[in-house]
Amino acid sequence: MTYPRSLARTALFAIVYGAAVLLGWRTATDAAGIALVWPAAGVTAIWFCAQRHARARWADAVALPLVLAATTLVTKTPTLLAALLFGIGGVLQGTVFALLLARWRPSLWGAGGIAPMRAPRDLWGMLGAAIGASACGSVAAVTGEWLTTGRLPWTHLGLYLTQRTTGIMIIGSVGVFAGAALTTVTARFGSAAGWLRHGRARLAATSRWRRAEYVVILAGTTAVYLAGFGYTDRLPLSFALLGGTVLVATRLCTPFLLLHNCVVTVIAVRYTLDESGPFAHVTEPIVRAAIVQLFLALVTVVGLALALGRDERAALVVALAREKAELVTQQERAAAHSALLAAIIDTVAGGLVVVEPDGHVSLRNPAATELLGPFRDIRNTGYRHLHLDGTPYAIHERPSMRAMGGENVRGEDILIQPPGTGPGHIVRVNASPLPRPDGTSSAVILVHDVTAERRHRDELTNFAGVVAHDLLNPLACLGGWTAAARDLLSDLPPHTILDQALDDLTRADRAAARMRGLIDGLLAYTTARKAEVSAVPVDLTALTADIAVARSDSAAAAGQQEPRFTIGVLPAVQADPVLLRQLMDNLIGNAIKYTGPGVTPALTITAARTGDTVTICIADNGIGIPPGQHNSIFENFHRAHPDSGYHGTGLGLAICKRIVERHGGTITASDNPGGGSCFTFTLPAAGLSGL
Ligand code: ADP
Repeated sequence: MTYPRSLARTALFAIVYGAAVLLGWRTATDAAGIALVWPAAGVTAIWFCAQRHARARWADAVALPLVLAATTLVTKTPTLLAALLFGIGGVLQGTVFALLLARWRPSLWGAGGIAPMRAPRDLWGMLGAAIGASACGSVAAVTGEWLTTGRLPWTHLGLYLTQRTTGIMIIGSVGVFAGAALTTVTARFGSAAGWLRHGRARLAATSRWRRAEYVVILAGTTAVYLAGFGYTDRLPLSFALLGGTVLVATRLCTPFLLLHNCVVTVIAVRYTLDESGPFAHVTEPIVRAAIVQLFLALVTVVGLALALGRDERAALVVALAREKAELVTQQERAAAHSALLAAIIDTVAGGLVVVEPDGHVSLRNPAATELLGPFRDIRNTGYRHLHLDGTPYAIHERPSMRAMGGENVRGEDILIQPPGTGPGHIVRVNASPLPRPDGTSSAVILVHDVTAERRHRDELTNFAGVVAHDLLNPLACLGGWTAAARDLLSDLPPHTILDQALDDLTRADRAAARMRGLIDGLLAYTTARKAEVSAVPVDLTALTADIAVARSDSAAAAGQQEPRFTIGVLPAVQADPVLLRQLMDNLIGNAIKYTGPGVTPALTITAARTGDTVTICIADNGIGIPPGQHNSIFENFHRAHPDSGYHGTGLGLAICKRIVERHGGTITASDNPGGGSCFTFTLPAAGLSGL
């Protein structure tokens, strides 16, 4: 707010305040100046609230006493000092009201917010602020009287208190509503014309009956009050008049109640001054003024309490209806969402099953029914669950049961056989635990049919095995013929062309050796996939030591650095001895092979038994595995160091993985913290059967 604007508002309020003071004095009933109503108290309250953020607030504090002194001097009070003290009391009153209202009802217009009174607690806040402010103003006024007259008029104190509180409540409530409406009009409609248009539209939307009700109630209650106060027989019928206020408060909207309050105030004061109405028989002026004040305060507070209670209820009903509508929308959205999810679940090719902790199936799609059968309880599906070697799954081994126990099962192949003699099909199962609030877990199971995929792979493997086997024979012939050719050439006298021919034969031998390595790898892979696993207890320490000796000997024979072995105590395992040797030899061979130039290979082989499982770790000091390839090196033909001069086929680790998996274990590769790499795999501990 600019400075001139602030001063202009001060001037405007000063004029209104002056008018209110003059009006108040006009209701004085005796020579001592006891006014029946004191609207100036209400104007002061609004003035100081409205100017809360004004730049020239000092002007308000100066203007009020001056206006009061000026208006009072031309009317009642004889001394300037008394008038000024009255004025200072007014400033104090306005300031205290603004402060208390801001503290108790900060959302109200004039108290820091922009809202009108909306609920009874707004009324109680305002009433409290009015009483507090009036008490301060009244004490100041009485002190002023005492200082100027030398008498301490205690009786005036109570009167001032009710007079000012009533003034603040009647005018103040109108002011808060008007201020809030003005702020809303400016913010929402931009101009008074816009607001008028809105008002006309609302009027047009109001039914004729409702409009008639407004007119009848307003006119009727005014007539009742006029009759009650115009009745000269001085009967104490004021309580009956309150019925009219109750009617207005309960049927008409709150601004009309405020209008009604103002009309009642005018009627009550006007007629009482004319010695008419229910209070006219009270002869003592102070008592009469106090009774009129109390009556007006009662009309205002009762009316506002009823109207605001109704407004609050209406607002709550609207909020409830909105919440209900939102709830319905949310429910509809949730229903649509779940319908969509159901449609997706039903149409996916893979099977999806959700199993509750007690074993019963809470969700299953058609694909799951087709693959696993139409069971209701996971423990009793009617279909047989078998390992790929034909041994049956124990109930607790099933992925669903393990997932309910908290395990994440990934890519486990199971042979499912329907009742009867059908061949069944192989499904790949992923199962995850779904924790519930009670601490148990449901299981989410995803299955898809891999029968065709596996058949195709088996056919390919068979084919590779056959081809590899058939290639060995011509390869052996090729080796024989190159050896024969070398023998023949060795008898000839030296010649440059002869040297060239011998070099070519050496290259042919090397190519044949590489091809033999590849064929051996393919055959080993096929064997690892297909050979029967005949698991027996195997002394892993002895087997590893045997391989270590063989590797050291062959390195010495080839004139290479002999590898250093550190072999811990390795628990016995339940495994196929041939496949296990192939596995250990492959891993140890790799650890020796993938060593940097000039570095003596150093291997540390350790193992530990946990429950029924032995975990074996082979760590080396080699060149390590390039980042991001720790999983892919287990795929067929994947080579992580293809251009580094290390020969190989990329099949060794695929074979190792296959052997470990056929024993029900897992294998992983990681970086050795001291440099090099570390291969870790699990095997069943010795003494377990069922492989
Ligand atoms: P290859 O016949 O090439 O040795 P493998 O399947 O045995 O085939 O190994 C796959 C790839 O994994 C290798 O080419 C090599 O890059 C990497 N690799 C295997 N073992 C080790 C190891 N101990 N240290 C570093 N890299 C290794």
